[in-house]
Amino acid sequence: MALIYLLPLGNIENELLHIIGQNIRELFKHEFKVLSVLEVPESAYDDKRSQYMATTLLKEVIKNAPDNAIRIIGITPVDLFLPVLTFVFGQAQLNGKAAVVSTCRLKQEFYGLPPSQRLFRERVCKEVTHELGHTYGMVHCMNKKCVMHFSNSIRQVDIKDNCFCHGCIRKLQENKNERNSPNFSGG
Ligand SMILES: [Zn+2]
Ligand SMILES: [Zn+2]
Repeated sequence: MALIYLLPLGNIENELLHIIGQNIRELFKHEFKVLSVLEVPESAYDDKRSQYMATTLLKEVIKNAPDNAIRIIGITPVDLFLPVLTFVFGQAQLNGKAAVVSTCRLKQEFYGLPPSQRLFRERVCKEVTHELGHTYGMVHCMNKKCVMHFSNSIRQVDIKDNCFCHGCIRKLQENKNERNSPNFSGG
């Protein structure tokens, strides 16, 4: 059976992984499986920025995809960046198999606020949906409430819903039936 795999890169709560998986099952209509935890590749670490290079983690995710993986999503607690951006919440292969999401900036504590488990889980699910959307060939949407809207601040993550707008749902259905060659896409 073709599965969507979740790959923890570093220490991620098992409960959170299962919440993400159930969210994927609901929105993408695929069963999921959680893989055993892998270390974050040290080669991804940038001393000057004290962050990890998103593309290196994404390559690690691709390398670890089981044969029956229809998609694979890496989830990591470390802060990710791309050379042109201060940080990214995640990165995905456009029309590809793999994506990676960082939970680092999705925690209230990151902004000096008291923790909120509910908000944290909601944000993680939104970002996973967003990056998975890219793997199905979806690009950024202008609708601020749509999960495919580009977020470069936590406020924008909170404004959007964890679902696709009507236009994006249509595109998702079309793209799910097509095969295109993968590209890397940030954000
Ligand atoms: Zn949309
Ligand atoms: Zn994006």
